[in-house]
Parts: sequence; C-alpha cells; structure tokens
Amino acid sequence: MSATKRSRAIPGAVEPDPGPRVKRQRTDLLILGAGGAGLVAALHAHSANPALHVTIAVKGLLGKCGCTRMVQGGYNVALAPGDSVERHFMDTIEGGKWLPDQDLAWALVTGAIERIHELENELGCFFDRNADGSMHQKAFAGQTFDRTVHKGDLTGIEIMNRLAEQVWARGIHRLEEHRALDFVAAAGKDDAGALAGVLLADIRTGDYVFVQAKAVLLATGGGPTMYRFHTPSGDKSCDGLAMAMRFGLPLRDMEMVQFHPTGLLAGRETRMTGTVLEEGLRGAGGYLQNGDGNRFMERYDERAERATRDIVSRAIYAEMRAGRTTPNGGVYLSMGHLGPANVRRQFKGMVERCADCGFDLAAGKVEVVPTAHYMMGGVEFAPDCTTECAGLFVAGEDSGGVHGANRLGGNGVANSTVFGGVAGDTIAAWLARDGAWREPDAVALEAARARAEAPFMHRRSDPGALESIRGRLYDVMWDDAGIVRDAAGLARAASALDALGAELAATGIRDGERAFNLTWHDGLNLANLIAVSKVIVRAARTRENSRGAHYRSDYPDTGDLSTSTFVRVRQRDERLEAEAVPVRFTRVAPGRSLLDPWSGP
Ligand SMILES: Cc1cc2nc3c(=O)[nH]c(=O)nc-3n(C[C@H](O)[C@H](O)[C@H](O)COP(=O)(O)OP(=O)(O)OC[C@H]3O[C@@H](n4cnc5c(N)ncnc54)[C@H](O)[C@@H]3O)c2cc1C
Repeated sequence: MSATKRSRAIPGAVEPDPGPRVKRQRTDLLILGAGGAGLVAALHAHSANPALHVTIAVKGLLGKCGCTRMVQGGYNVALAPGDSVERHFMDTIEGGKWLPDQDLAWALVTGAIERIHELENELGCFFDRNADGSMHQKAFAGQTFDRTVHKGDLTGIEIMNRLAEQVWARGIHRLEEHRALDFVAAAGKDDAGALAGVLLADIRTGDYVFVQAKAVLLATGGGPTMYRFHTPSGDKSCDGLAMAMRFGLPLRDMEMVQFHPTGLLAGRETRMTGTVLEEGLRGAGGYLQNGDGNRFMERYDERAERATRDIVSRAIYAEMRAGRTTPNGGVYLSMGHLGPANVRRQFKGMVERCADCGFDLAAGKVEVVPTAHYMMGGVEFAPDCTTECAGLFVAGEDSGGVHGANRLGGNGVANSTVFGGVAGDTIAAWLARDGAWREPDAVALEAARARAEAPFMHRRSDPGALESIRGRLYDVMWDDAGIVRDAAGLARAASALDALGAELAATGIRDGERAFNLTWHDGLNLANLIAVSKVIVRAARTRENSRGAHYRSDYPDTGDLSTSTFVRVRQRDERLEAEAVPVRFTRVAPGRSLLDPWSGP
C-alpha cells in the first residue's frame, strides 16, 4: 500500500493516506508476550477454566523469542536441606538493598518451590541432578546458599520448549508476529478508567487489529536495549512499559537497571557483543583480570568475583575509566586455572558461544564488558498480579517491586514463571466474577492507530536516519545514565532524549509498504525505548542516594535504610511526574533478619 495518494481536489497535490482500517477480534483473556510469564499464565488460566478463550499475542514466534529462552544460569529456589525460604527471602531483600516490596518478594520465594515442581513433574522439564537423584543447585553471586537449579547452562531452552509444547497441545489461540501498540480505554462514563482491549499491528500484513478482551495480561518483558551494550533479545524494546506509561499506570524502581558484569566483547561490529557470559562462571571460581593481566576485584569487595552484579559492574567500569583495558576496551574473564576439560564439561554452551567469536573460554581469556541486562523497575502491582486498572494484570519483567535495587541472578526466571502462574489463576477467578467485554472509546482507538501510523505521514526519510538515532540513544544512555551517574550527566541525558524524541517524531518512512516493514517497527521500537529512557532518567534524577544498580557519584551514600523510599513515575498530560514513596517493611525491618528467631517487622 502506498503511503500517499493523489488528491482529487487539487491535481498533483499529495495528501496523507489514512492507512489501513482496524480489524477486530474478541477473546476472554489476551496475553501480551510469550516468555515464561505469558506462557505459564496461559497454562494456568486454561487449567482453571478450559472453556476460557485465551489468546497469546507475541511480537515474534511463540517459543522462539523473548529472554526466557536465553536463560543460561538457572532458577533460584530453596530446596536443599539447610536452605529455606526465609534465607532466600533475606538474600533477595538484602540484595535489593531493602527496596523490594516484601510481600512480592515473599510470594516469589515461596511460589518458586511450587513452580519448580510443576515445571518438572507436570510440564516435563529435565534439570541437572546429583548422583543421589536430588536436584543439582549451583552457586550464584550474592547468595548465601547454592540454590540455582539448572539444565547445564541452557536452562531457558528447556523451560521454554516444554511450556510452548503444552500451549500448542491445549489449543490456546495464538497471534504470532503481532505487535501490541497501545491499550485502549473503554467508552462511556460507567466504564471510566477501564480497559476495552489492545490495538496491535500484524507484522506480516501491516494490518491493525483491535483485540477486545475482558482481561489483559501485560508480559512483554521489559528489556533495557537502549544501552550501547545489552543482553536481551532483539524483539524487546520496552513496549509494554511504554504502553503502560501512556495509559497512565505508575511505574516504580525505573532507575534500577541491572548491568551484567560479563557481556562478551567481540568488537562493535557484531551483535554478539553484549551477549551474556553467565554468572556461574564467576560462581565456579572464574577470575576477572584487567588489561594489565592483574586480578582487581579484591580491591573493590571482599567477596571478589562473587560480589553482586552491581558491585562487579562498577569495579569493571572503574578499571575501564582508569584505562586498564583489553584491546577492545573491556577486561578479561579467565577460567583456565579451573582446568579446561572441567570448564568445557560444566559450561558447554558458554565455551561454544565464545569459540564462535574466536575466544577460548576453557583455556584462554575472553574479553568482557558490563552489559545492560535487566530492568528491576516496572508497573506497580500487587502479589496477585492486579494493577491500578481493573482488568489489566502484569507479570514478569514488565512488573516492578519484586527485586528492589538489584535482582539476584536466578530470581528473574523464577519471577516470570511464579507470577505468570499467579496471574493465570487470578485472572481466571476474576473473569468468573467480573469479566465483561467493553466497547472501546473511538477517540482513544483512533489516537492509538494514528500514533502508529505517524511515520508514514512524514516525507523525511534519509537512509540511515533511524540507525543514527539509535546510535546516539545508545551513547546517551551508556555515558550519562549508565553504571555511574551524576546530576550533570542526567541533565544532559534528559535534554538529549527530548531532542532525540523530537527528531524521531519528524522522521518518516520512505517505503509505504506495511507488510513486514521492519523499518516501521524499528521506528516504533525506538519511540518506546526513548520514552522509557526518559522515565529511567527522571527516576535517576529523583533518587539522590546510591542503592544497588543505581550509583550516583554525587550522592555515593546509601542513605538511611529505615526510611527507604522507592521512586514512582507516572505520565500525566505528556509530562512525567516523580515521587518518593516510603517502602513498607511488612515482614522484616532493616537491621533484622527472618533467620533470627527474635526478628520481626
Ligand atoms: C541472556 C540472558 C540470560 C539470562 N539468564 C538468566 C538466568 O540464568 N536466570 C534468571 O533467573 N534470569 C535470567 N535472565 C533474565 C530472564 O530471562 C528474565 O527475567 C525472564 O525470562 C523474563 O521473562 P518474561 O516472560 O517477563 O519476558 P520474556 O521472556 O522476555 O518474554 C517477553 C515476550 O514479550 C514479547 N513482546 C515484547 N514486546 C511485545 C509487543 N509489543 N507485543 C507483543 N509481544 C511482545 C516478546 O516477543 C516475548 O515473547 C536472563 C536474561 C538474558 C537476556
């Protein structure tokens, strides 16, 4: 289809093509995203009520996209004798620097036990075992017990394959290669503030589809792909977070972007750069060495390479800033001292990935750099996955509050599968009570369509325009809103993001064809990334202390733990508003521990 058409009124003049019309579909439950959260939610909702019409809409192919598939290290769960949910909870709270919502963290650690048994016994996942038949659990940084269940170092593939098989087997409706664009509010005073459904774009045809749904689960999985080095899959561009923000929902902890310390550094020209080399490598005894060949972590933390991700990332960044770097500008990860055959056996996937890029992980050294990995922040939600908006639920990396200032390795996939299941159960019960289809507000629906259509309305379309904007976005976020922040850098980032947003809004698409128009989707991705980057910067400017992943060189102190606050950001009339909200210590107060029998809130 052409982006422009000849006007009848003025011969030769060109007027905008209104674009394709919107098709309509109906479902009981629409799930956005097919990672661990989305798929477990679908299975739970279906088990609770097989008569429900459940639709999963996903930007890529079901089972093949998102980050759950990329999970390498494993899944935290307190199973072994000597470990306990209280210990897992305390590690999560202390790792999160007392910012997690304690009821959410408790739901995570207790729900993980139920979910891992379900994954094994009902869904058929095979995890590695000890000689005595018990589940093998390995060490992950920042934890006081070896509690990470895994399948070699390719745990996510095992989980996703089994989940996807079950979804296919149960006839759950799928909209693959469908991109969610915006939530659409219901029409009418009686339904004010309620959700009518979601506008999507069918990537294969370019058609718009409005899916009217009684309930919607947001599970598009965050993903900080606005940083120069990042780990998440290419389909992730913070779409769900941007949609939630435009819909007026509050986001929390958005300043908390986790950098994984060891992203592969294979040069700027390859997408392999930034992909993660798992934490278990350091857990098993791997060394970090700077460009001079010296180990440096002991200078930064007594736990050395086993310190939490935030500390290791900052230490590497400091070595980089001091110029003690490898040829490509990072540091080395070295495993050879643990015995090459042993490393090859324990970390087969990692060894092969490094070999693909010309590095010998088993016997030599691999260049690594901190890489943006995970967003602790997301939509505010309750332990039953409800949000401020009736009928809109959230689970997985799109949600905020479970991890606080720092996510423990292994708590990510636990988070998505635990809360995915909770969401499925909650939604099935909610639908039985309150579920109803609502008519969309025509103005809101058209506004959503017009927003997606806007790039076709502009004439400017320099080749490489989007690439240039993306490159500058990477630089702004890495340099001024990355591992170390300060007021001047964040102010620079805020104005640079405004300018990039305006430039993108004025950038058009040369080719008016909508079917598989990846330039169009690239532009939509960038718009969401810039919108969410602004939230990150706004939250980072609001937090004038240093906690976990958020480090301000102008405010290096942690601040008083007992008066901890989290940052809530909300969009009102195109403006971002931020506020500091007190953390409620519902289970344990700072300085106390659930492991101490005399402890309490
Ligand atoms: C390389 C890597 C390794 C990791 N290793 C571990 C580990 O060892 N242990 C651990 O606990 N965690 C790990 N994590 C984190 C973990 O992957 C995430 O915490 C978790 O998988 C997130 O699950 P999710 O369901 O929320 O999102 P995802 O699994 O990312 O799924 C998101 C889904 O949403 C879809 N989507 C996105 N945008 C749209 C849109 N606009 N419309 C429709 N669909 C959309 C995507 O296509 C995808 O299907 C790792 C992450 C990465 C990147």
